[in-house]
This record gives sequence, C-alpha cells and structure tokens, in this order.
Amino acid sequence: MDTYRNHSLAPYTTVKIGGPADTFIITTTTDEFVQTLKNINKKLVILGNGSNTLISDTGIRDTVIKNTANKIEYLSDNTVRVESGVQLPFLINDTINHSLSGLEEFTYIPSTIGGAIHGNIHGVNKNNFDKFLVSIEIFDQNLKTRKSFLAKDLNWSYDHSEFQQHPEWVILSATLKLSPGDPATLKQTVTDITAKKITTQSMNSLGSTFKNPQNDFAGRIIDEELHLKGFRLGDAQISEKHANFILNLGHATASDYYALIKKIQSEAKEKGFLLEPEIKFLGDFS
Ligand SMILES: Cc1cc2nc3c(=O)[nH]c(=O)nc-3n(C[C@H](O)[C@H](O)[C@H](O)COP(=O)(O)OP(=O)(O)OC[C@H]3O[C@@H](n4cnc5c(N)ncnc54)[C@H](O)[C@@H]3O)c2cc1C
Repeated sequence: MDTYRNHSLAPYTTVKIGGPADTFIITTTTDEFVQTLKNINKKLVILGNGSNTLISDTGIRDTVIKNTANKIEYLSDNTVRVESGVQLPFLINDTINHSLSGLEEFTYIPSTIGGAIHGNIHGVNKNNFDKFLVSIEIFDQNLKTRKSFLAKDLNWSYDHSEFQQHPEWVILSATLKLSPGDPATLKQTVTDITAKKITTQSMNSLGSTFKNPQNDFAGRIIDEELHLKGFRLGDAQISEKHANFILNLGHATASDYYALIKKIQSEAKEKGFLLEPEIKFLGDFS
C-alpha cells in the first residue's frame, strides 16, 4: 500500500486533468483495501481509472483511494470472480482466452471493474454490464462490514446502478456469468469493434460527455444543431471526430473542460435541447 500527501490526480485519469488529493492511497489487494476502508472514518472518494470523472483543478480535500487488486478466478459453470481493480480490457482478453464470451461488447472502454459496475456501462450490443453480473461483494463504510448482494436484487438501468445512490458502498469484487465461445471468433469481434471505435473515439477524453436524450444523440445535437464540432476553449476541444467527446489537446485545465461543457449546455438549452452530463465531477467547480 502506498500513501501520498498533496498528490496530483491528473495522471490517474484518462484525460490527464485534475488537482491534488490531500491524501491519496493506492491499495494492491482486497484485504489492504478493506483494512484501509476500516481505518478511515471521514469522507473518502474511490477512483477507478478516472475515465469518466472530471476532477477540479483545486483537487479534493478528502482521502482518495485507488484499488488495484486484480485477481481473476475461474469458477464452474462459466462463471468468473473478479476483484474491483481488474482492468476491463485485460478481463475481456483473459475471458476470451478461457473460451468465454459476453464481455467483448465492452471493448475499447478503459474501465476498471469497479467503475463498470458503478456506472453500469453500456456496450455496442446495447447490453449493460449488469446483464453479466451474478453477485457483488461490497464494503459498507457506514456499517464497516463486508456484504454480498445478488445482482438481481439491485436496481439497474441504462447509465445507472444502485451504487450511485449508496456512496457508502465500495465495490470489492463481483461474480460474472458468461457463455462458452470460440476464442478466434471472439478475438475477431474485439478487433472489429476496436477498428470501428478507434476512428471516432479518443482515449484522451472522458468518453461520452452527455447522455443521449431520448430518441436523439448528444453528438448529433452538438454537431448539427450547435455547429460546435472542433470548438476549443484553451486546450479542451470538442472532438472533430465525435462531437460528444471532449479532448485534452495537451494542457487543458478542468476549468477549460467545464466551461466547454457549460457552453454546450447553454447553447443546447437555447435551442430547446436538454443535455445532461454522463461524466462525473469531483471537487469544486463553483
Ligand atoms: C475512449 C473512451 C470510451 C468509452 N466508452 C464507453 C462506452 O462505450 N460505454 C460506457 O458506458 N462508458 C464508456 N466510457 C466511459 C468510462 O470508461 C466508463 O464510465 C467506465 O466504467 C469508468 O470506469 P473507471 O474505472 O474509469 O471509473 P472512474 O471514472 O474512476 O469512476 C467512476 C465512478 O465509479 C466509482 N467507482 C469506481 N470504482 C469503484 C469501486 N470499487 N467502488 C465504488 N465506486 C467505485 C467512482 O467513485 C466514480 O463515482 C468511455 C471512456 C473513454 C475514455
């Protein structure tokens, strides 16, 4: 376990933006993670890969924990138990090598398993991550105990999991149920999805900035209604390739990024469109 004081969080996000955490802890096993959670009685923040989170330039006064516990255990009946710090791209590859299918539709999402469950990520076949979840083990920070839930007993929807209503629940591990599959075919699927996504989606972003309004696309609105594709504030730029992605061209600050989000929202509102952020905000943006 490593503990840092006044430590910049920018390197721990895909967009490389964010000020320091007063205390930043990296845990490497679930036991270490739980022990750390037990010992901290004040507010804390869990960070995955920071691929969906804009951290403010002034950073975070609470303790931030990044858990990198990454055990993967293959059980009977096509199920696999994974710790929350497992990298999703690694797991996709590993399950394919074990002739298991299901996760390939989440190719090109730079998530941890904790982040994938928390946000109930959506894949290219329109399934959400909960489709593959059997059970989840959590640590309840209020009760200071470990608990397990059957996934079917929790609330899930597109972009939403019950975890978003329970900040005291820290995801430790999960069991996933997959299906038998042919590794060569599955690898081809991954290659095809990657080839398609790489042309429009950049890793120096936070993924889709806004949720798609019903029966419409945020990217279409930003491009065709607001004509903002390529628009830039400082080093934050609305992607030329996909208008719902905001890129850091090199030295973007959280303020640049946030101001761009506000500009899009206000111009959209003037034209009668409500754009709600899909990304999460950590720290002070006032
Ligand atoms: C290029 C690109 C493509 C993307 N494509 C998609 C896509 O196709 N579909 C999609 O849904 N998303 C997509 N995203 C968005 C993003 O990758 C996902 O939302 C991802 O699941 C976030 O995971 P993370 O580990 O980075 O979480 P973070 O951004 O670090 O955290 C997100 C939230 O999860 C919470 N959290 C993380 N770990 C835990 C834990 N162990 N216990 C409790 N809470 C936890 C955090 O506190 C935070 O509230 C994309 C992003 C990028 C950059």
